[in-house]
Amino acid sequence: MTNEELRESLLAAPKNGYTRLTDAQKEEMNAYCKRYAAFMDQCKMEREATAWAVAEAEKNGFKPFSKNMSVKPGDKIYYNNRGKSIALAVIGQESLEQGANICAAHVDSPRLDIKPNPLYEDSEIGYLKTHYYGGIKKYQWLTIPLALHGVVYRQDGTVVPVTIGEDESDPILVISDLLIHLAGDQMQKNAAQVIAGEQLNVIMGTEPLQGEGSDLVKLNIMKLLNEKYGLIESDFLSAELTLVPAGKCREVGLDRSLLGAYGHDDRVCAYAELEALFSIENPTKTAVCILADKEEIGSVGISGMQSHFFEHFMGGLCDAQGVKLEDCFAASFCLSADVSNAFDPNFADTCDKRNNSQLNYGVAICKYTGSRGKGGASDASAEAMGHIRTTFANANVIWQIATLGKVDQGGGGTVAAYMANRNIVTVDAGVPVLAMHAPLEIVSKLDCYETMLACKAIYMA
Ligand code: MN
Ligand code: MN
Repeated sequence: MTNEELRESLLAAPKNGYTRLTDAQKEEMNAYCKRYAAFMDQCKMEREATAWAVAEAEKNGFKPFSKNMSVKPGDKIYYNNRGKSIALAVIGQESLEQGANICAAHVDSPRLDIKPNPLYEDSEIGYLKTHYYGGIKKYQWLTIPLALHGVVYRQDGTVVPVTIGEDESDPILVISDLLIHLAGDQMQKNAAQVIAGEQLNVIMGTEPLQGEGSDLVKLNIMKLLNEKYGLIESDFLSAELTLVPAGKCREVGLDRSLLGAYGHDDRVCAYAELEALFSIENPTKTAVCILADKEEIGSVGISGMQSHFFEHFMGGLCDAQGVKLEDCFAASFCLSADVSNAFDPNFADTCDKRNNSQLNYGVAICKYTGSRGKGGASDASAEAMGHIRTTFANANVIWQIATLGKVDQGGGGTVAAYMANRNIVTVDAGVPVLAMHAPLEIVSKLDCYETMLACKAIYMA
């Protein structure tokens, strides 16, 4: 054998995904990404993504879950967890005793939540106070267009949805920064302290009401909120309002190969899971799609992946088939579908390039996340990684390997550990992202499309 022949047969040679895409696949990829972008324009927080999933599920013949319902092969069932997370299932030919094929993503993203008592006036400027949610570089949120999203639960029991800043005719909201001319002291601070959490106050207005009295700017803002939404100040106490970057998902680059949007992490995997689930009929095993909340703050709470809402749903399906939930979990497989960090040549020394995911190399499989000595990681076994390799190879999915930065550089986690704790074999995989957790995150269209194909392959395995 020549060295060249040996090289070919023995050495791995990862290639850019574009070397494998056919023209027909490219067309499919572009159409898929258009649909994904439209989803992103409508869904900027977990509630909006959950509502979107419910509406699409119903269009696709899914029925709401109820206790004691009958469950037979081919049935399509969804469980809306209080409007903030959702689990959907297509019942398989095999019994749930043989396990389910699960894809689990999250639909919350880092953002600035509005405090319970937020509205005040200072120096005749009206503000809302915020408390950031998830891991952000606070300075990135200054002087960019922001929109207010969420719901307010009024004392009379009515729930009012609020969206300000997305419609072309809407005003946007903004947090100011210090002018460079006076920023000598600020520029000496480390980046975590350039702006303090308590300085993330968003400007709501400046025009005072006519007449006598104090806080006339604040009063005017409350009056406007009352006219549009029927709100009074104490309604903020029972509200979930959040500031997110205003604007739409856009193509990036002259070749339009990338997509820039707020919250690709992790709605890019959530959308992939959903579209894949809606495209399958009669899987061998039951296919389950989860869109969880609260991943960015530890998967906690009633709508997070640690919540027993998942047991409630899966237990109900198992009961209907006379199967023990524990037996179902023990035989199940879960793709923890979450984003990875795409290699960024501008910050090359934060990664081990040999083990990092990179744009356009396909869905990124991450054996482990965690930090330091893999602390907090759900370290997938050789067998689990082998199962993924085989499944993706059989389905012609373009994939690559990923790790989260070089050793001791930092770290993070996903819902993987919480699925694995349930005795479900779990592997992390998802779309590589540039500028993860920034107000504008960047992904490649090819990787988005391959992640959808990956979810489909898992469901049909
Ligand atoms: Mn994530
Ligand atoms: Mn994240």
